[in-house]
Amino acid sequence: MADAFDEECDYLFKAVLIGDSGVGKSNLLSRFAKDEFRLDSKPTIGVEFAYRNIKVGDKLIKAQIWDTAGQERSEFSCMVDHANFGLVFNESFRVFKPRFRAITSSYYRGALGALLVYDITMRSSYENVSKWLVELREFGGQDMVVVLVGNKCDLEQSREVEKEEGKGFAETEGLCFMETSALKNLNVEEVFLQMITKIYDMTSQKSL
Ligand code: GDP
Ligand code: MG
Repeated sequence: MADAFDEECDYLFKAVLIGDSGVGKSNLLSRFAKDEFRLDSKPTIGVEFAYRNIKVGDKLIKAQIWDTAGQERSEFSCMVDHANFGLVFNESFRVFKPRFRAITSSYYRGALGALLVYDITMRSSYENVSKWLVELREFGGQDMVVVLVGNKCDLEQSREVEKEEGKGFAETEGLCFMETSALKNLNVEEVFLQMITKIYDMTSQKSL
């Protein structure tokens, strides 16, 4: 990560995108990163990331956001590329082999924040949020800034998860919450900024 750090930046923050396949993570990221979006030149572990420099107060922050490259890895979605990763699940799909843990832990390692995304038109993606949270807390630690994101809010007519549900769950779990539309570019900038500002607040408090 050090080689990507601009001298003029005050901070480099890593954050991750998680959530079921198809909820809109990659579209949220490309919206946010705009033309600065770029692929990792060596996506050996099926991870892409993008950078964007953001001003918070008088500080310049380089946000490095990691995305799963379409290979969400979890015990419940099982969206796993076995050929690439050589992963093996046991019969109950509940125990990972060590290699999976290595990939997952490198995805989360050093991350200070996460956008945990579900699709408001796909109830199952909301129901899996609590499982993503378990993984997040296991691999990312307890101190991460987590924003629960209900994406595709442009599709009101197909809504399967009420805004109040998402909001209520986020409150219970101590997460921030926002509904977004990557398609209509609603709240996308806001959701990333909220996460980055919170990370900054936490980091600067710790260094006092
Ligand atoms: P990922 O698998 O979580 O990375 O999801 P993608 O970003 O690849 O999006 C999955 C599908 O949902 C694509 O067909 C997108 O065009 C669509 N999509 C993503 N965000 C939105 C949104 O905000 N509104 C609508 N209507 N479709 C979206
Ligand atoms: Mg994707």
